[in-house]
Amino acid sequence: MYELIDGKATSAAIKEEIAEEVKQLVKEGAKTPHLAAILVGHDGASETYVASKEKSCSQVGFNSTVLRLEDDITEADLLEKVEAVNNDPGIDGLIVQLPLPAHINEQKIIEAIKPEKDVDGFHPVNVGRMVIGLPAFVSATPAGILELLKRYNIETSGKSCVVIGRSNIVGKPMSILLSQKNDFGNATVTLCHSRTPNLKEVTGQADIIIAALGRAEFLRADMVKEGAVVIDVGISRIRSDKTKSGWKLLGDVKFDEVAPKCSFITPVPGGVGPMTIVSLLRNTLLASKREIYK
Ligand code: NAD
Repeated sequence: MYELIDGKATSAAIKEEIAEEVKQLVKEGAKTPHLAAILVGHDGASETYVASKEKSCSQVGFNSTVLRLEDDITEADLLEKVEAVNNDPGIDGLIVQLPLPAHINEQKIIEAIKPEKDVDGFHPVNVGRMVIGLPAFVSATPAGILELLKRYNIETSGKSCVVIGRSNIVGKPMSILLSQKNDFGNATVTLCHSRTPNLKEVTGQADIIIAALGRAEFLRADMVKEGAVVIDVGISRIRSDKTKSGWKLLGDVKFDEVAPKCSFITPVPGGVGPMTIVSLLRNTLLASKREIYK
């Protein structure tokens, strides 16, 4: 029988811990942590993500600001906005909601954010620091997955882990974190991607599989060994005539088929997703306490 890894309940518990710490810090005279988000345009999914980040901030007692900008803003003007937040001592963390309109160079914007305020952990300075094991803001989704593994006492040391997907925000950092020499690292990691032949043979050997490729129900039972731990990062919005909204969310794992073979598995929704936001809150708290860059 598998154990369900409940990201919703875990994230709620962590939010309470953060809220408690904020209350204590403020009581001791520290400033209230403050997260700013820049939202360009009116993309539905981006609006939803930013709204839920704002709600989470208020749940833990943070201040939050959303800078809403039109999608015809020039790159130069957006860079100026980023610079203004960089220089605002009242703001601890800044995220720029992606994707940005095609005429704006995303990488240029990411690199304009001060590493000390880059609570998404996307700036090359934070990525580089993470790779060599220095204190860094770690990308929220892989950080959230590590936290789930910790809280469910899932051993990674000496295990064989397969990460599917090599994005800069999930797959790549995840593979590095799991292979690092520390608690909840020390795994032997294989990073798979769209050019990996015989994927089934590779995943079939894995003790832990992290599926982050964005293909609905891609991971099937015959790709997973008995007793594996399966972490499903994928979120695909699929049309459905069975839901009120007309949409349903599917992960990268065919859950009903794979779960019976697993020791632990995350659901979608309610698995990795809620943990991503909590990691962002934690990074913002670290930023306000100046714990990464002293
Ligand atoms: P991405 O979309 O940038 O890249 C997908 C990766 O998957 C690529 O590296 C590609 O090589 C690999 N891939 C594609 N098809 C493959 C195949 N057939 N076999 C093996 N590898 C294949 O990745 P992303 O931004 O990390 O997003 C992946 C998924 O995770 C998406 O569904 C996204 O919505 C979701 N996501 C969820 C959260 C969360 O909080 N739960 C956060 C970030 C991303």
